Amino acid sequence: MHTPLCGHAIGEPIEYAVAAKERGIDLITFTCHIPMEWEAFGQTGIRMQRDQLDQYISLIGETAEAAQSLGVEVLCGIEAEVFPDEAHMEPMDEILAAHSWDFVLGSLHAQCQSYLKWLGDNKVKSDALRIDSYFRHLKDGAQSGRYDSMSHPDVIRTYGVVSDFNPAEHEEVIREFLEAVVEEDICMEVNTSGLTKGAYEVHPDPLILGWAAEMGVKLTIGSDSHQPNAVGRFFNWVQPMLREKGFEDLHYFRGRKRYRVDMPGGDPGAADGDRGAML
Ligand SMILES: [Zn+2]
Ligand SMILES: [Zn+2]
Repeated sequence: MHTPLCGHAIGEPIEYAVAAKERGIDLITFTCHIPMEWEAFGQTGIRMQRDQLDQYISLIGETAEAAQSLGVEVLCGIEAEVFPDEAHMEPMDEILAAHSWDFVLGSLHAQCQSYLKWLGDNKVKSDALRIDSYFRHLKDGAQSGRYDSMSHPDVIRTYGVVSDFNPAEHEEVIREFLEAVVEEDICMEVNTSGLTKGAYEVHPDPLILGWAAEMGVKLTIGSDSHQPNAVGRFFNWVQPMLREKGFEDLHYFRGRKRYRVDMPGGDPGAADGDRGAML
């Protein structure tokens, strides 16, 4: 979940904690977009500036204290970028190293001008090639050692980057990515915001989730909330679906160490009552 520092999220962090409490969630992790130096990653309205990092960290620290009385643990993470050109990763790595984050997400935002330019420069034109290169970059990201969980893993299907996304046609490259997640012993994020973004399907697609379950991928879960009333959105629907796919647990990170919890909700009514690691 995000804070107003990102420029496109609303509500104070404590309101997200209150919403979590109301939904029976007792642990949430903020993951604002990491500052990036190159403007093509979207500076205005998408991410905080580098000189706002300290403000972000103290804001989450204050929220964590205030939320104690609610019985909600609040953790401080960051949504870092995955990008094929390592030159842009250096300043980002400094930020990752400079703070003791609880959790680091790895996202390739294919809709950013930075990635669209990379696709253009490398003449990656067709949908099929774009989807293959997207998952290869995610795989490289998984192998980079930077991230605890790979977020919204098929976000390329949104925002018009490709007109058609059929995971079955890209099974090999997607499984290579999943394999890297398993081998590196990191997690993949199930992100319920996909259910609101035009494609009306969870990230990643249930077909990919089925492969992931079979391959032993570990999951974190997030609603990618940009407003308090989105906290825990669709968890009641997604968690029983994940259980059906064969996932028995979820994970969250504190101090970048992974913790396991049982998959909430054998039945939809109980899904909100258990501990949930919300991003
Ligand atoms: Zn955002
Ligand atoms: Zn994202």
